Amino acid sequence: MTDVLRFSTALRALLILFAVASGLAWGHASAADPTIVTAIRHTEEKKAFRLELDLAGTAAPQLVLLRKPYRVALDLDDTVSAVKLAAISGSEVVRDMRHGLVADNRYRIILTLTDAMRPDLEVARDETGSKVVLTLVPGRDADFSAPVALASKVAEPAAQPSAKPGKRFTVVVDPGHGGVDRGATGDGGTDEKSVNLAFGLALREALKSAPGVDVVLTRDDDTFIPLNERSAIARRAGANLFVSLHADSIRFKDLRGATVYTLSEKASDSLSREIAESENASDRFAGSEWDQDAPEIHDILVDLVRRETESFSEHFAVSLVAHLKDGGIQLINNPKRSAGFRVLRAPDVPSILVEIGYLSNAEEEKLLTSGDWQRKVAKVLAASIVEFARHRTGQPATLPR
Ligand SMILES: [Zn+2]
Repeated sequence: MTDVLRFSTALRALLILFAVASGLAWGHASAADPTIVTAIRHTEEKKAFRLELDLAGTAAPQLVLLRKPYRVALDLDDTVSAVKLAAISGSEVVRDMRHGLVADNRYRIILTLTDAMRPDLEVARDETGSKVVLTLVPGRDADFSAPVALASKVAEPAAQPSAKPGKRFTVVVDPGHGGVDRGATGDGGTDEKSVNLAFGLALREALKSAPGVDVVLTRDDDTFIPLNERSAIARRAGANLFVSLHADSIRFKDLRGATVYTLSEKASDSLSREIAESENASDRFAGSEWDQDAPEIHDILVDLVRRETESFSEHFAVSLVAHLKDGGIQLINNPKRSAGFRVLRAPDVPSILVEIGYLSNAEEEKLLTSGDWQRKVAKVLAASIVEFARHRTGQPATLPR
């Protein structure tokens, strides 16, 4: 029992550290009692590794596969561990194993592998609790090709009703600028802030009938919101995806088409760096109380979350570019770019910024203010978000026609 207490105290300390450092209220703890990990065992025979978890409570584990190095993360929502993890030694398969909370309600065991392995996950339930079994057998690099969570196969006892409601997916849509911050202005007098808002509202409308997808807007009127607050809204909403919408001006008047940006320390090119700098300058309108970045936290679990988030952002950006192309939306050359956008910095929310078009181009200004065009682009964005949601929740989510 001492271990239980000590461990939960340590978890709480980590959570509070994370919450304080990110300057956020750690809001939405689950009201229900969490599932408790009561035992963790592992065995290995002829390069086949088996990890067993005993749980008091129900379990719906998910696997996340990561490359470079090969890693398998086993995630359990609304779960805490009451036990310590036995050290790995002399394993041919697993180099390292760690565990802890990676979000306010998600427990994770992460295994660093010596080579690509094929994972298999099974869950069994009885009256007293659940057992989760992860097995790893030699696999191929291709087993790690998509950074997509694999939902587990659940072996339910026949009598047990499967009552757990489907997992919801929350997308936070962020119409850029607003209020005193007008963003770019087109030669025809169009303000970027109103174009962004129109696209945001059209996107919410397009997602209205998507089952399992909740939409939160950072603003639905002409309000100024600092950049940090925008990503904080996403974290408070427990967002699974953050999409910031823009229509900036650039030096090259003849350049037009959409661009999809992800976060990177180093900009992919000079145009991306200029756009990120001008976006980041939005905060000059913010009061000094907003003028601080959250301190960096150096914690292995937070780093892992950040890397996983990057991989999901990248995955979504690639797929969004493909959807835009298929949807007949013009794109600039090399439409997937990256730069240091402050608004994309939530460590645990996959985030992208879309320049839907550039107001510096006269043709594009006309398109950007057209309701038909806004609805057309919103539909393409919505389809792309729904596809991503389906991957993340492991559920069939399709947009009704
Ligand atoms: Zn902008």
